[in-house]
Amino acid sequence: MEVNFSAIESLLDQGKAVVSSDDASTIEWALNATREGRTATLYVSKPVLQAILQRYWTPKRVEFAGLRPISDDEIARVRSDFKIDIGGYANSLECPRCKHPYSTYDFIQQGIKEHGEEAVRSTFSFKGGVFQINPRQAPVCQRCGLIIIGVGFYSYLYNGPDGRPEYACGAVIVIVIFD
Ligand SMILES: [Zn+2]
Repeated sequence: MEVNFSAIESLLDQGKAVVSSDDASTIEWALNATREGRTATLYVSKPVLQAILQRYWTPKRVEFAGLRPISDDEIARVRSDFKIDIGGYANSLECPRCKHPYSTYDFIQQGIKEHGEEAVRSTFSFKGGVFQINPRQAPVCQRCGLIIIGVGFYSYLYNGPDGRPEYACGAVIVIVIFD
């Protein structure tokens, strides 16, 4: 195994942590951290993300979160306005003030406003998978600017055009697995 220490050093300089562990331990850690309410961003291989999602997104959780397949119309709007190819599932939250629904399009639009287009696009073109554990970022209504609280938790399970998982549900700790 070759370890890229300069990549690790640049992450450490940003105040992140890097952990290398075997797949089974990573999967257990992710599920435990999710359960314990910790906030972390996990960068893993696609098979590891797939295994986490299979264990985490049980039918009950899917139902409780209200995850629905992203509509063809929303996929087309994201592609034409943001040049991002996305598929998968997300729920929709209704803005308590203006009733505008917050879902994938709004999530990406908010991400671009807060982190820049490049950062969002690199996340979706990352060759591995990203698992956001207990994100701290609150959804903000893209029509009226209200922070959306009290109407549930914005949940998503995005996959790429090839059907492989890409990005699923903040970022305090970064864990990079080199395999
Ligand atoms: Zn609103």
